[in-house]
Amino acid sequence: SDRMRMGPLVAAIDQGTSSTRFLVFNAKTAELLSHHQVEINQSFPKEGWVEEDPKEILQSVYECMEKTCEKLTQLNIDISNIKAIGVTNQRETTLVWDKNTGEPLYNAIVWLDLRTQSTVEGLINKTPKRDKNHLKSKTGLPISTYFSAVKLRWLLDNVTEVHEAVLSQRAMFGTVDSWLIWCLTGGKSGGVHCTDVSNASRTMLFNIHTMDWDPELCAYFDIPMEILPKVRSSSEIYGLMESGSLTGVPISGCLGDQSAALVGQMCLQDGQAKNTYGTGCFLLRNTGSKPVTSDHGLLTTVAYKMGRDQPPCYALEGSVAIAGAVVRWLKDNLGIIQSTSEIEKLASSVGTSYGCYFVPAFSGLYAPYWEPSARGIICGLTQFTNRKHLAFAALEAVCFQTREILDAMNQDSGIPLTQLQVDGGMTTNRLLMQLQADILGIPVVRPSMPETTALGVAMAAGAAEGVSVWSFDPANLTTVTSEKFEPQINLKESESRYARWKKAVKKAMNWET
Ligand code: ADP
Repeated sequence: SDRMRMGPLVAAIDQGTSSTRFLVFNAKTAELLSHHQVEINQSFPKEGWVEEDPKEILQSVYECMEKTCEKLTQLNIDISNIKAIGVTNQRETTLVWDKNTGEPLYNAIVWLDLRTQSTVEGLINKTPKRDKNHLKSKTGLPISTYFSAVKLRWLLDNVTEVHEAVLSQRAMFGTVDSWLIWCLTGGKSGGVHCTDVSNASRTMLFNIHTMDWDPELCAYFDIPMEILPKVRSSSEIYGLMESGSLTGVPISGCLGDQSAALVGQMCLQDGQAKNTYGTGCFLLRNTGSKPVTSDHGLLTTVAYKMGRDQPPCYALEGSVAIAGAVVRWLKDNLGIIQSTSEIEKLASSVGTSYGCYFVPAFSGLYAPYWEPSARGIICGLTQFTNRKHLAFAALEAVCFQTREILDAMNQDSGIPLTQLQVDGGMTTNRLLMQLQADILGIPVVRPSMPETTALGVAMAAGAAEGVSVWSFDPANLTTVTSEKFEPQINLKESESRYARWKKAVKKAMNWET
């Protein structure tokens, strides 16, 4: 009888940079019923290179799906109640595969990868005014190592298998969403090759005004258009699951992870904003039906399009490359913590960085600087500095970077945010939350249910035409409460710390020139 009372359920695949998750929500209450998570290996074959294995990514999705279904069955929940699946993913990460064999032709080049730095500098130098914003009016983006087009260019130029597959019309390009949807809907025997507008808008090949691939942009990067996926809305049935326990369930939601978090935080109105702290850190502010151009180093991006006949919704975005990744670096490269969660206790034990500043510009600096030649520095060291101060400085770095983005966002929009909604893996760290409120001088609001990214794409999937088990009414989110962190230090103290941070950033810039 319990089984009968369970209403429709909606699932989400959340394929992030550091892990893959599968989560199942009750579509009436947004309650998270069960989930499973698997870590993803990253490889660093050369300095600045970051790759992941596309087959490992796919396997992790199947594993998370099957494990979650087992857990639901143990909870006496019938998995046939799952009416739709959404896909949300690390954005920009670039893949090419062979449509006849289904095999990837190279590893996935992860968004953080810097191998295209010289290509990017060459492209910028060739623009009429040596202007990194040369393509910004069409794409909303500066020319940078971050976006997919230059990574795809590198694959075409440097990987023989990719080049040959293009010549014999066997190549398919995609970001992680496309790769997964193609594989899950049947792969080489009839998989659907598509992406959604939010993911497409991060490739630098997509025109955010016409809402389609742009022939001029493709010509600029010399990308053959026939290898691109079809661009669809973020909420419609793309295809059906072809194998596993959920065979036949429609895949009907697709959003880049940051767009999904925006939706999951219910930031659906013009002016609403959220900041997500994962591997990197991404502050998005909904700007409604109009694309707003930034004068302060922010990106203009397509947030979502909730159905084939719905208008697109845009966002201003401040992207920070390294946030949680600095914690992982302290663990993996310095070994000063054994697990990432240990950083909170370590940093709390001193409560100050003792004048130490850590600019983790490992992949250059993203917003608001867009400086690929920046490199990380730790400064202000004394005889007294120890690993605890370093841990504290690392957390502070995440907060200072967010402050820079928030300042830019406030200047662009003219209406300062009065509080910041947050989510992501790092936000379990209470010290980080308090530091963030102190450095911003506004309250930081964290939802009780941390899986906002998954929730957002589950909503998109459940609301799709032909599924229609979920609406975007905030009244539905009855199980999601929140906690508020109020600023506690005085403004003068936080301003002087922030001023020091800015001095440290100057030292990290133009490191190689
Ligand atoms: P992504 O979606 O990019 O894969 P997640 O949202 O899963 O990222 O967050 C994982 C990141 O958060 C990792 O980089 C990890 O170092 C960091 N992290 C996890 N727990 C903590 C913690 N308690 N304190 C600080 N950082 C943390």
